[in-house]
Amino acid sequence: MPTGQMFINGKWQAPLTGETYAPINPATEEALTPVAKGDERDIDVAVAAARKAFDEGPWPRMSPHERGRLVWRLGDLIQQNLDEMAKLESLCTGKTLFDSGKVEIPFAAEVFRYYAGWATKIHGETLQLRENAFTFTLRQPVGVVGAIVPWNFPFLLSSWKLGPALAAGNTVVLKPASQTPLTALKFAELVAEAGLPEGVVNVVTGPGGKVGMAMVRDPRVDKIAFTGSTEVGKQIMREAAGTLKRLSLELGGKSPNIVFADADMEAAIRGAMTGIFYNKGEVCAAGSRLFLEEKVHDEFMSKLTERVKGLKVGDPMDKSTRMGPVVSRQQMDTVLSYIESGKQEGARLVAGGGRASVGGGKGYFIEPTVFDGVTNRMKIAREEIFGPVLSVIPFKSVEDGIAQGNATTYGLAAAVWTRDVSKALKAARAIRAGTVWVNAYNLFDAALPFGGFKESGFGREMGSAGLDHYTEVKTVWVDLS
Ligand code: NAD
Repeated sequence: MPTGQMFINGKWQAPLTGETYAPINPATEEALTPVAKGDERDIDVAVAAARKAFDEGPWPRMSPHERGRLVWRLGDLIQQNLDEMAKLESLCTGKTLFDSGKVEIPFAAEVFRYYAGWATKIHGETLQLRENAFTFTLRQPVGVVGAIVPWNFPFLLSSWKLGPALAAGNTVVLKPASQTPLTALKFAELVAEAGLPEGVVNVVTGPGGKVGMAMVRDPRVDKIAFTGSTEVGKQIMREAAGTLKRLSLELGGKSPNIVFADADMEAAIRGAMTGIFYNKGEVCAAGSRLFLEEKVHDEFMSKLTERVKGLKVGDPMDKSTRMGPVVSRQQMDTVLSYIESGKQEGARLVAGGGRASVGGGKGYFIEPTVFDGVTNRMKIAREEIFGPVLSVIPFKSVEDGIAQGNATTYGLAAAVWTRDVSKALKAARAIRAGTVWVNAYNLFDAALPFGGFKESGFGREMGSAGLDHYTEVKTVWVDLS
């Protein structure tokens, strides 16, 4: 990928601004490869290319078999370029190379392959309603999709949008987060190598407020697929009203991880650790509120705390590292200020609580942090911290655990830990969240829908439900009289 350029209409182009910026490696604070700093004018050109590719180009018109093969090819190329993609992802985000290389980039490849299979299986219905009419529905692509993704899982979350959008015959303008543009640009190279027609996938880099918002406002864009903060999601919804765009919004979370006294404690401890410390807690579905039934609270906490203190924080490229730095200085400051607020509101700090002393003073490393004795009223239990900070809240009964778990404006995910299947299933029904794990945390599959209730957004990604958001239903009525 050429330095400082974007991928528009099948070609690498310098931004019309003529400007570049360098993303920062959060582990070393060093500048990475400069990338284009586009603005509204670049979106104008990219949207025009995507529009033309949709209205006049071969992509929505080609046989779905052929389109499916090309989407599959993208999955293969991602797999073939796994090492480079994983390295670029870890350099920008600070996530461990293990997480990028063994979990996230392979998962993204799988998402393309999963949706490749759907290309030939999108269909309408024939309805036999009356003698003198032939009525049926068609499922057609929505058109030009603006995909806006955050920095925590830059490429994986792009695949959740690109896979279904492309399989259904849409064209896309992808805008990665400014902190983490490199895998999106590498992907553009693979799009060219796979042989997708020009204008079908365009990648524009630059600040969200300009580049992202320009797509939201542009009447030539039919749909915005957004993953990011609830605050920006609300802003996008307000702006999208101007053109009544289709929207899917995958937003923040404050997910409850509820451990009942009859749970397998060892498994629940592992789940609590993964729930909050995977990807340094920069996970929309993070189990950031851990609810412990009072009877097992003390035993659970002593084992959990010991485990947390042994968690290795350090260089994301080192195989033995379990947790890298948070994504940016700004994010580090935000997380540290939440830790201060926890202390001030009277929560009991039992592990961590500040910057981690690794990296020789360089890098945005934060200690894995646990607060006990938290109540749902405290800021650290209400607001999404998006960092390695766990709030532990004790509860008395099944009803109390579920009620407290539901006491949040968010509803993205939740987990319950119990050996009692009926308790687990009742809890799974009662919890108001888009995903409920039973005796597990952070499990995902390309075939299973993911998305939010309440202020965690709407729409689903992955599975057939994810595909629905990239098609319009058309009714055709043929009069036979
Ligand atoms: P963010 O909302 O600041 O940014 C997300 C994306 O939107 C970025 O590409 C950004 O450049 C762009 N953007 C920023 N301002 C914009 C504007 N005014 N108009 C249009 N685009 C704009 O979020 P972030 O800090 O990058 O990511 C963290 C957030 O994402 C967290 O709240 C997290 O919970 C959420 N998230 C949700 C999911 C999910 O599936 N529900 C997954 C991952 C992250």
